[in-house]
Amino acid sequence: MANIEIVCAACGAEALLRREPVFEGFRKTGERLLCSACGHAYDNEAEVPFKGQQRPQVFTAADKPQAVDVFEDDEKHRNCRYCVHYVVNPFTQWCGLHRRDVEATDRCDQFKRKPPAPVAKPPPPPPKPLL
Ligand SMILES: [Zn+2]
Repeated sequence: MANIEIVCAACGAEALLRREPVFEGFRKTGERLLCSACGHAYDNEAEVPFKGQQRPQVFTAADKPQAVDVFEDDEKHRNCRYCVHYVVNPFTQWCGLHRRDVEATDRCDQFKRKPPAPVAKPPPPPPKPLL
């Protein structure tokens, strides 16, 4: 009974396998294997989609939180382009602190690191087809 988590083939939910004893008269003749979410009955254990047996579909490598190494090589990256005061537009690159044109590669004593851009979330997986 170690593995009772399933990903139901009928409803697609992560559910638990419900085992219901089947009686014939007073004699237990077997077990029914049911999805706890939708009640779908599996004929036998081999049909049960135990969790972990499928290829993972929901979590891909893209879902892993990306390591944000903002402080790595900090000295090397104290350039204006990484600075919170750096403003870029089609005509100029501008330091909002010193109010002057700058180059992305300029260095500055008032450097203040720009917070990292939020990581774009991958689109949700398509809905699973109903079987
Ligand atoms: Zn189900």
